[in-house]
Amino acid sequence: MLEKYYPYEYARSVFAIDYKRLYEQGYRGLIFDLDNTLVHHGEPSTERVDKLFAYLNRLGFKTILLTNNDEERVQLFIKNIDTDYICDADKPDLKAYLEALKRLGLPKEKAVSLGDQMFIDIIGANRVGIPTVLVHYIKAPGEVWPGFKRYIEMAVLVTYFLRRKYTHRLGNIIKRGKRK
Ligand SMILES: [Mg+2]
Repeated sequence: MLEKYYPYEYARSVFAIDYKRLYEQGYRGLIFDLDNTLVHHGEPSTERVDKLFAYLNRLGFKTILLTNNDEERVQLFIKNIDTDYICDADKPDLKAYLEALKRLGLPKEKAVSLGDQMFIDIIGANRVGIPTVLVHYIKAPGEVWPGFKRYIEMAVLVTYFLRRKYTHRLGNIIKRGKRK
């Protein structure tokens, strides 16, 4: 019953993923959530995120941002990043993911969807059959109470980690022991 919320992999941040290994496995497209996945909600990009996208492009990945936030928010983020995007995406609606695949020009098996919310990013991509990575959400500075929904997510995540057959379904793609 909870399986629809389970990601293929869990990562503590977008920087903890070995994208080269993903590419070697045949994946060619990355669908990124924006807020709290790449930067904190509403913030512009960072140099580190800019460098990550440049690196992904060099590896040969096509990337697309898929966000429920608006055009203005994406423009604030995207200044130094060369990527396609869909704003006002209405995730977890299936249409958002199907449109992202269409834009990438890839079948669902060749893309990976990354996001911080199980009940939006993960369930949406899972419904379409796109492999998923749940990224630990980026907290606001000084944030103590992350909100009730995060606690529900954590409870589901515990069941996910206990059910081993659902974890690490993208192979060995998590960088261990590196800084966040
Ligand atoms: Mg998010």
